[in-house]
Amino acid sequence: MKIIIDPGHGGKDPGGGSNQYFKEKDMVLQISKYMYDRFQELGVAVELTRMDDITLNSGERAKKVRESGADICISNHINAYNGEAEGAETIYSIYSDGKLAGFILDNLVKAGAKKRRAFTKTLPKSPTKDYYFIIRETGKVETVIVEYGFADNPNDAQKIMNHWKNYAEAVIMAVCTYKGISYGSSKSEPLKEALEILVNAGEINRPDYWLINAVSGGTVKGEYAAIILQKYAEAIQKFKNGNG
Ligand SMILES: [Zn+2]
Repeated sequence: MKIIIDPGHGGKDPGGGSNQYFKEKDMVLQISKYMYDRFQELGVAVELTRMDDITLNSGERAKKVRESGADICISNHINAYNGEAEGAETIYSIYSDGKLAGFILDNLVKAGAKKRRAFTKTLPKSPTKDYYFIIRETGKVETVIVEYGFADNPNDAQKIMNHWKNYAEAVIMAVCTYKGISYGSSKSEPLKEALEILVNAGEINRPDYWLINAVSGGTVKGEYAAIILQKYAEAIQKFKNGNG
Protein backbone atom coordinates (compact mmCIF):
# COMPACT_ATOMS: atom_id res chain seq x y z
CA MET A 1 0.00 0.00 0.00
CA LYS A 2 1.37 3.38 -1.01
CA ILE A 3 -0.20 6.78 -1.29
CA ILE A 4 0.83 9.87 -3.21
CA ILE A 5 -0.46 13.26 -2.14
CA ASP A 6 -0.74 16.01 -4.70
CA PRO A 7 -0.90 19.60 -3.45
CA GLY A 8 -2.59 21.31 -6.41
CA HIS A 9 -1.00 24.24 -8.27
CA GLY A 10 2.24 25.83 -6.96
CA GLY A 11 4.91 28.30 -8.05
CA LYS A 12 3.61 30.56 -10.82
CA ASP A 13 0.13 29.04 -10.47
CA PRO A 14 -1.48 30.21 -7.20
CA GLY A 15 -4.76 28.35 -7.89
CA GLY A 16 -8.21 29.87 -8.14
CA GLY A 17 -9.26 28.88 -4.61
CA SER A 18 -7.61 31.89 -3.02
CA ASN A 19 -8.90 34.84 -0.98
CA GLN A 20 -7.52 37.69 1.14
CA TYR A 21 -6.43 35.21 3.84
CA PHE A 22 -4.72 32.45 1.88
CA LYS A 23 -3.62 31.30 -1.56
CA GLU A 24 -4.85 27.91 -2.69
CA LYS A 25 -1.32 26.69 -3.50
CA ASP A 26 -0.12 27.44 0.07
CA MET A 27 -3.15 26.08 1.90
CA VAL A 28 -3.15 22.79 -0.02
CA LEU A 29 0.61 22.42 0.52
CA GLN A 30 0.09 22.87 4.26
CA ILE A 31 -2.70 20.26 4.26
CA SER A 32 -0.65 17.89 2.11
CA LYS A 33 2.48 18.10 4.27
CA TYR A 34 0.41 17.38 7.35
CA MET A 35 -1.05 14.31 5.61
CA TYR A 36 2.43 13.23 4.59
CA ASP A 37 3.65 13.27 8.20
CA ARG A 38 0.55 11.52 9.48
CA PHE A 39 0.71 8.69 6.92
CA GLN A 40 4.32 8.15 7.90
CA GLU A 41 3.26 8.01 11.53
CA LEU A 42 0.65 5.40 10.56
CA GLY A 43 3.32 3.33 8.80
CA VAL A 44 1.97 3.94 5.28
CA ALA A 45 4.40 4.55 2.41
CA VAL A 46 3.77 8.08 1.19
CA GLU A 47 5.07 10.57 -1.36
CA LEU A 48 4.28 14.15 -2.38
CA THR A 49 4.18 15.52 -5.95
CA ARG A 50 5.73 18.71 -4.58
CA MET A 51 7.16 19.65 -1.19
CA ASP A 52 7.76 23.31 -1.99
CA ASP A 53 6.23 26.23 -3.81
CA ILE A 54 7.29 25.07 -7.28
CA THR A 55 5.60 25.16 -10.67
CA LEU A 56 4.58 21.77 -12.08
CA ASN A 57 2.87 21.56 -15.46
CA SER A 58 0.10 19.02 -15.87
CA GLY A 59 2.34 16.59 -17.79
CA GLU A 60 5.02 16.60 -15.08
CA ARG A 61 2.48 16.27 -12.33
CA ALA A 62 0.62 13.37 -13.95
CA LYS A 63 3.93 11.60 -14.67
CA LYS A 64 4.96 11.82 -11.02
CA VAL A 65 1.70 10.23 -9.94
CA ARG A 66 1.68 7.62 -12.72
CA GLU A 67 5.23 6.50 -12.00
CA SER A 68 4.98 6.62 -8.21
CA GLY A 69 3.77 3.04 -7.87
CA ALA A 70 1.11 4.32 -5.50
CA ASP A 71 -2.34 2.74 -5.12
CA ILE A 72 -4.06 6.01 -4.33
CA CYS A 73 -3.53 9.67 -5.15
CA ILE A 74 -5.20 12.37 -3.13
CA SER A 75 -5.16 15.66 -5.07
CA ASN A 76 -5.85 18.53 -2.68
CA HIS A 77 -7.67 21.68 -3.86
CA ILE A 78 -9.75 24.62 -2.72
CA ASN A 79 -12.69 25.68 -4.86
CA ALA A 80 -13.94 29.10 -5.96
CA TYR A 81 -17.13 30.06 -7.72
CA ASN A 82 -19.43 33.01 -7.12
CA GLY A 83 -19.26 33.43 -3.35
CA GLU A 84 -22.56 31.64 -2.86
CA ALA A 85 -21.49 28.05 -3.51
CA GLU A 86 -20.53 26.31 -0.27
CA GLY A 87 -19.21 22.96 0.84
CA ALA A 88 -16.88 20.09 0.07
CA GLU A 89 -16.72 18.03 -3.11
CA THR A 90 -14.82 14.95 -4.19
CA ILE A 91 -14.21 13.92 -7.79
CA TYR A 92 -13.43 10.35 -8.87
CA SER A 93 -12.79 8.45 -12.09
CA ILE A 94 -15.58 7.03 -14.25
CA TYR A 95 -13.58 3.78 -13.96
CA SER A 96 -13.78 3.77 -10.16
CA ASP A 97 -16.72 2.67 -8.00
CA GLY A 98 -16.57 5.99 -6.15
CA LYS A 99 -16.29 4.34 -2.73
CA LEU A 100 -13.19 6.19 -1.60
CA ALA A 101 -14.56 9.53 -2.81
CA GLY A 102 -17.76 8.79 -0.87
CA PHE A 103 -15.88 7.93 2.34
CA ILE A 104 -13.83 11.12 2.07
CA LEU A 105 -16.88 13.31 1.53
CA ASP A 106 -18.76 11.69 4.44
CA ASN A 107 -15.80 12.22 6.77
CA LEU A 108 -15.36 15.85 5.71
CA VAL A 109 -19.03 16.42 6.53
CA LYS A 110 -18.54 14.81 9.95
CA ALA A 111 -15.61 17.21 10.44
CA GLY A 112 -17.91 20.19 9.79
CA ALA A 113 -17.99 20.73 6.03
CA LYS A 114 -21.24 21.30 4.20
CA LYS A 115 -22.02 18.39 1.88
CA ARG A 116 -22.09 19.14 -1.83
CA ARG A 117 -21.37 16.06 -3.90
CA ALA A 118 -19.05 13.23 -4.91
CA PHE A 119 -19.07 13.09 -8.70
CA THR A 120 -17.44 12.13 -11.98
CA LYS A 121 -16.99 14.34 -15.03
CA THR A 122 -16.06 13.43 -18.59
CA LEU A 123 -14.53 15.41 -21.43
CA PRO A 124 -17.11 17.08 -23.65
CA LYS A 125 -18.03 14.64 -26.43
CA SER A 126 -15.79 11.92 -24.88
CA PRO A 127 -17.89 9.85 -22.47
CA THR A 128 -15.01 7.36 -22.01
CA LYS A 129 -12.49 9.97 -20.84
CA ASP A 130 -12.27 11.64 -17.45
CA TYR A 131 -12.33 15.42 -17.58
CA TYR A 132 -9.49 16.13 -15.13
CA PHE A 133 -5.94 15.21 -16.22
CA ILE A 134 -4.90 14.18 -12.71
CA ILE A 135 -7.56 11.45 -12.92
CA ARG A 136 -7.29 10.74 -16.67
CA GLU A 137 -3.51 10.71 -17.15
CA THR A 138 -2.42 8.87 -14.01
CA GLY A 139 -2.70 5.26 -15.17
CA LYS A 140 -3.50 2.64 -12.57
CA VAL A 141 -3.31 5.03 -9.63
CA GLU A 142 -6.77 5.67 -8.20
CA THR A 143 -6.99 9.45 -7.94
CA VAL A 144 -9.54 11.39 -5.95
CA ILE A 145 -9.64 15.18 -6.17
CA VAL A 146 -10.66 16.72 -2.86
CA GLU A 147 -12.14 20.23 -2.90
CA TYR A 148 -12.30 21.27 0.76
CA GLY A 149 -14.61 24.22 0.23
CA PHE A 150 -14.95 27.53 -1.57
CA ALA A 151 -12.33 30.18 -0.80
CA ASP A 152 -14.80 32.91 -1.85
CA ASN A 153 -17.48 31.66 0.56
CA PRO A 154 -17.03 33.19 4.06
CA ASN A 155 -18.21 30.06 5.92
CA ASP A 156 -15.91 27.76 3.99
CA ALA A 157 -12.97 30.18 4.22
CA GLN A 158 -13.29 30.31 8.03
CA LYS A 159 -13.67 26.54 8.33
CA ILE A 160 -10.64 25.87 6.14
CA MET A 161 -8.47 28.34 8.08
CA ASN A 162 -9.53 27.12 11.52
CA HIS A 163 -10.10 23.41 10.91
CA TRP A 164 -7.80 22.39 8.06
CA LYS A 165 -6.13 19.81 10.29
CA ASN A 166 -9.49 18.20 11.08
CA TYR A 167 -10.23 18.11 7.37
CA ALA A 168 -6.86 16.48 6.69
CA GLU A 169 -7.56 13.90 9.41
CA ALA A 170 -10.98 13.22 7.86
CA VAL A 171 -9.31 12.31 4.55
CA ILE A 172 -6.65 10.18 6.25
CA MET A 173 -9.34 8.30 8.16
CA ALA A 174 -11.28 7.66 4.94
CA VAL A 175 -8.18 6.24 3.21
CA CYS A 176 -7.56 3.99 6.22
CA THR A 177 -11.17 2.73 6.17
CA TYR A 178 -10.98 2.12 2.43
CA LYS A 179 -7.70 0.20 2.61
CA GLY A 180 -8.22 -1.54 5.96
CA ILE A 181 -5.35 0.29 7.64
CA SER A 182 -5.67 0.69 11.39
CA TYR A 183 -6.13 4.36 12.17
CA GLY A 184 -4.77 6.09 15.24
CA SER A 185 -5.14 9.78 16.00
CA SER A 186 -2.05 11.97 15.99
CA LYS A 187 0.04 11.34 19.09
CA SER A 188 2.93 13.73 18.91
CA GLU A 189 1.43 16.91 17.48
CA PRO A 190 -0.72 18.40 20.27
CA LEU A 191 1.90 17.67 22.93
CA LYS A 192 4.68 19.07 20.74
CA GLU A 193 2.73 22.27 20.18
CA ALA A 194 1.97 22.66 23.89
CA LEU A 195 5.62 22.08 24.79
CA GLU A 196 6.79 24.70 22.31
CA ILE A 197 4.52 27.27 23.96
CA LEU A 198 5.81 26.34 27.43
CA VAL A 199 9.46 26.48 26.34
CA ASN A 200 8.96 29.89 24.71
CA ALA A 201 7.29 31.12 27.91
CA GLY A 202 10.28 29.90 29.94
CA GLU A 203 8.11 27.50 31.97
CA ILE A 204 9.98 24.32 31.04
CA ASN A 205 13.44 23.66 29.67
CA ARG A 206 13.39 19.93 28.93
CA PRO A 207 10.72 19.38 26.24
CA ASP A 208 12.38 16.09 25.27
CA TYR A 209 11.71 14.71 28.75
CA TRP A 210 8.00 15.43 28.44
CA LEU A 211 7.78 14.20 24.86
CA ILE A 212 9.12 10.81 25.92
CA ASN A 213 7.54 10.50 29.35
CA ALA A 214 4.21 12.33 29.17
CA VAL A 215 2.61 9.61 27.06
CA SER A 216 0.44 6.61 27.75
CA GLY A 217 2.67 4.12 29.64
CA GLY A 218 5.34 6.81 30.14
CA THR A 219 6.99 7.64 33.47
CA VAL A 220 6.38 11.28 34.35
CA LYS A 221 7.64 11.90 37.91
CA GLY A 222 4.87 12.83 40.34
CA GLU A 223 6.72 15.90 41.65
CA TYR A 224 7.20 17.20 38.09
CA ALA A 225 3.51 16.73 37.33
CA ALA A 226 2.73 18.66 40.54
CA ILE A 227 4.94 21.57 39.42
CA ILE A 228 3.14 21.68 36.07
CA LEU A 229 -0.25 21.69 37.82
CA GLN A 230 0.86 24.52 40.14
CA LYS A 231 2.08 26.55 37.16
CA TYR A 232 -1.16 25.87 35.33
CA ALA A 233 -3.14 27.13 38.36
CA GLU A 234 -0.92 30.24 38.60
CA ALA A 235 -1.47 30.96 34.91
CA ILE A 236 -5.24 30.71 35.32
CA GLN A 237 -5.10 32.98 38.38
CA LYS A 238 -3.01 35.55 36.50
CA PHE A 239 -5.42 35.41 33.57
CA LYS A 240 -8.40 35.95 35.92
CA ASN A 241 -6.69 38.91 37.57
CA GLY A 242 -5.97 40.38 34.19
CA ASN A 243 -2.21 40.46 34.65
CA GLY A 244 -1.37 37.90 32.05
ZN1 LIG B 1 -7.27 23.86 -7.46
